[in-house]
Amino acid sequence: MVDVISKEKRSKIMSAIRSKNTKPEILLRKALWAKGIRYRVHYGKEKIDIAFPTQKIAVFIDGCFWHGCPLHSHIPKSNVEYWIPKLQRNINRDKAIEEKLKKEGWQVIRIWEHELKEPKGVEMISEKLINIRSAH
Ligand SMILES: [Zn+2]
Repeated sequence: MVDVISKEKRSKIMSAIRSKNTKPEILLRKALWAKGIRYRVHYGKEKIDIAFPTQKIAVFIDGCFWHGCPLHSHIPKSNVEYWIPKLQRNINRDKAIEEKLKKEGWQVIRIWEHELKEPKGVEMISEKLINIRSAH
């Protein structure tokens, strides 16, 4: 199967994955807020998506394509030489940031965007985060 992505479609994908305020992320933040949980967004140098600084918990919501989700990150077959190094750099950057935070005593939680899109995903993950947070 040949995977051809038009210029318009590619720029649409690029702008969707570049945006920090993705819809699932906003839904998760709203769910936490509704449960009385307060957090910081895009926190610190590492731009932690959702941070609980007091408990040193860093939550990253990773877009499936951009961060190399094993289920959904299908590299466009046209332009492989462009995409592979680009995605690899992102994955390496994610790893480096995670290691740095861990060394500084943070607990790092990564959530795939697809987990939030599942039925009850937002509810389940907000509960999970609240449990982790209150365990600190
Ligand atoms: Zn995924």
